[in-house]
Amino acid sequence: MKIVDVEVIEFKHDWYKPPVPHKWGYGNPDNNNKGEVIESIIKIITDDGAEGYMIGGDKKIIENNLKPLLVGQNPLEREKIWTWMEHANAYKNTLSLNEEQAGYVDCALWDLFGRMTKLPVHKILGGSRDKVKAYASTFPNMGGPEDYAKHAIACKKMGYKAYKIHAYIAWDPIKWEPAPLMPAFPDEDLEICRAVREAVGDDMVLMLDPFAVYTLQESLKVAKELEKLNFYWLEHPMMETKIEAYRRLTSQTEIAILSPEHAKGGVSTRAEWILQGASDMIRTDIHFGGITGCYKTVSIAQAFGIQCEMHGGGWGNSHLLGAFDESTCEYYEHGLLKPGRDYSIPPIYLKETCDPLDTDGNVILPQKPGLGFDLNWDYINDNLV
Ligand SMILES: [Mg+2]
Repeated sequence: MKIVDVEVIEFKHDWYKPPVPHKWGYGNPDNNNKGEVIESIIKIITDDGAEGYMIGGDKKIIENNLKPLLVGQNPLEREKIWTWMEHANAYKNTLSLNEEQAGYVDCALWDLFGRMTKLPVHKILGGSRDKVKAYASTFPNMGGPEDYAKHAIACKKMGYKAYKIHAYIAWDPIKWEPAPLMPAFPDEDLEICRAVREAVGDDMVLMLDPFAVYTLQESLKVAKELEKLNFYWLEHPMMETKIEAYRRLTSQTEIAILSPEHAKGGVSTRAEWILQGASDMIRTDIHFGGITGCYKTVSIAQAFGIQCEMHGGGWGNSHLLGAFDESTCEYYEHGLLKPGRDYSIPPIYLKETCDPLDTDGNVILPQKPGLGFDLNWDYINDNLV
């Protein structure tokens, strides 16, 4: 069997538009507006009719840089292709972009294998569980402490047993306007954390993700306060280029420090973080080497007896979560959520969402062959770009 074509199909649909970027690039709370957005799907075609798909992918990078590596190859040789893509990244010196795109391509190869064998990818990878505990992951800048407290109570009523706060990110909570990412607002962030803990009581797991806006001193201060509030983890508090600062933070705090989330270099970078003792738990997602790369990362974490918490949900990460048990990958990140946004409705090009929630706060994992999505091709073909 050989790959004969790799195509990235682009189409339009009405969905939540990304927030209008302000000059600091992130954090505008006005993100409940719907409008026309462009989505893409990778399609891998073989000479014997087998096909693989993944939602997402940059048409230019995949068709120009990665397709030439793939055409003529056996799509079942995922490890060989993964190694080629990893090395091609270095050669082209566009690592971070290509690493993400190679991740999408790797997911499409797993989808192809799953469709061929009529098995969900998580069963091929290992098959550990069919549902995963979810945490409600908030949008940043949702309002004041009382707004977060109300939202956390609503999430608890929906069945969530855990709640992760994105507080003030690139947003000034006093002037209520865009702000540079640093200096941050750690005292105001802590007010939200206190209000949420008070509102939900002691039996809800809580986490904070400041999205890299703190200094080391701010991180230490916030970590100590979160320990008093019995928070589970402090995620990605500083720029992940500052590994020594992370090592000091981790060695001086009790609360679990969870990082790196965005550091490029996939499994290799995460292995180095473990070696450095730079965090208590590591983090990855399919943008860092796809399912093949993440499986290596999670396996290394498992070997060292530390957790690897998947960043975000979606059709790729779901299968890593299904392949490992909760002693290694504990939670599914569900969201982002905010009041007025119904997360349970799929976009029109999909027949169902990948992560429905049960009444006990678990995400039910996909069970259809491959990655498990059911695409509405009539809609997609009528709305091609
Ligand atoms: Mg995060």
